[in-house]
Amino acid sequence: MVVGQVAEGRDLVVLGGGLGGYEAALRAAALGRTVMLVDRAGVKGLGGECLHRGCIPSKVLIERAHHDGFDEYLADRGPVVEDLRAAVERQVRRAGIEVVEGQARFLPGERIAIDRPGELPSFVQYRHAILATGSRPVEVPALPFGGAVLDAAGLLALDELPRSLAVVGGGAIGVELGTALARLGVAVTIVELTDRLLPGLDRDLGPFVGAALGALGVRVELGAAAVGHADGVLRLERDGAALEVAADRVLVAVGRRPNTDDVGIEATGAVLEAGGLVRTGDTGLATPRIAAVGDVRVGPALAHKAAAEGRMVAEVLSAVVGHRDVGAVPLIVFSDPEVASVGATAADAAASDGELVVGTVPLRASGRARTMGRSDGLVRLVAERTSGVILGAQVAAPHASELISTATVLVEMGAVLEDVDGMVLPHPTLGELFGMAAAAAVQASAA
Ligand SMILES: Cc1cc2nc3c(=O)[nH]c(=O)nc-3n(C[C@H](O)[C@H](O)[C@H](O)COP(=O)(O)OP(=O)(O)OC[C@H]3O[C@@H](n4cnc5c(N)ncnc54)[C@H](O)[C@@H]3O)c2cc1C
Repeated sequence: MVVGQVAEGRDLVVLGGGLGGYEAALRAAALGRTVMLVDRAGVKGLGGECLHRGCIPSKVLIERAHHDGFDEYLADRGPVVEDLRAAVERQVRRAGIEVVEGQARFLPGERIAIDRPGELPSFVQYRHAILATGSRPVEVPALPFGGAVLDAAGLLALDELPRSLAVVGGGAIGVELGTALARLGVAVTIVELTDRLLPGLDRDLGPFVGAALGALGVRVELGAAAVGHADGVLRLERDGAALEVAADRVLVAVGRRPNTDDVGIEATGAVLEAGGLVRTGDTGLATPRIAAVGDVRVGPALAHKAAAEGRMVAEVLSAVVGHRDVGAVPLIVFSDPEVASVGATAADAAASDGELVVGTVPLRASGRARTMGRSDGLVRLVAERTSGVILGAQVAAPHASELISTATVLVEMGAVLEDVDGMVLPHPTLGELFGMAAAAAVQASAA
């Protein structure tokens, strides 16, 4: 890498040090590639949005809100994030990956410019590149970020709790953070434009979460649009009627847009879809030399999907595999109860003309759930009627975020209902519910 117009050659350059980027870099280095990773924040940025402003701090908040308090969150969020970041840095250094700080953008002729404030850009020429620049929150025009209006990162960075919070957006991030703040004593209202909470998930899961939010004292306004905020009041409109919600702070969590508008994509021959996602085939390749992974690529904006794609494209670009299916991607909301889904859903079964069957067991059927004082939830398996091959699962239960890994294994390994029905599963555990759901689906297949 040199300053000036002359570019030094690099075998593989990764743009972005989030999970997608650093997993790609590690796998490529393990395959013998010489890797440069560029992140806006250099080694301090390793881990990306998930580690610094997303998955990890939000789960510290959720855990401390459940078991401790806000002071414990303030004490723990920094050290947890830094310990994990430092562990990634050690891995990256051990792998011999060169980490460069700067904003990277593509130039014609397989070159990348790296910009740093107050310095001349430097240039590298790449054989292969991996775009892993992630995403940023979408703004609502009537509620520009700033002042009392926060994105998730702003909320997670608060040092003091507000008295009241309005959450605009009833998806995973809004529900998770709204629940945590309500547990900490904040008066929370969740405002959602559609007619249900968690609109991205199976229709049967949201009501469990809605009921638990109600019990926590959270107000939920469905079918309502936020139209402005001033003097501690959020104004809403529903069916032409005006509503008001007390809100010292407003969290806007209505979606994310890919960071592909400032990376010089037009210089590469890669094509952007509507919404700014990079068009790739199954291989993750956007051009023969450039791959795209994570939040810049089609699919759910989730950390584990970014990581899996990172490993896949490293292998594709290193000619280890022509293509590898990243497989079923579990969706999880760390709500109360936790909800999770993988693969085919009840809606898919309903639309399948009888080709798919469903086995559903209510959580109250589980002795373990009852010992935990919980009966609000379900476990469901979705399978092919004739073969019994399990294609999907949904869980609303305590520890659904852990249970869904079992279901993901069943789906990925092509497990059959009869096998799961016949397994000896430990009692009393929540995992037993998979055996009961399999038995229910076997019965449904025979009907
Ligand atoms: C509040 C919140 C909670 C979440 N919780 C979960 C969860 O529980 N589970 C889950 O799976 N997902 C969760 N997510 C989503 C998850 O954070 C993202 O899907 C994941 O971070 C995507 O990884 P990525 O590698 O594509 O990009 P990112 O993690 O966004 O990393 C991109 C990196 O690239 C850098 N960068 C951007 N542009 C450039 C450039 N031009 N040059 C150099 N560097 C650049 C950025 O600074 C960043 O470090 C959550 C997100 C939020 C906001």
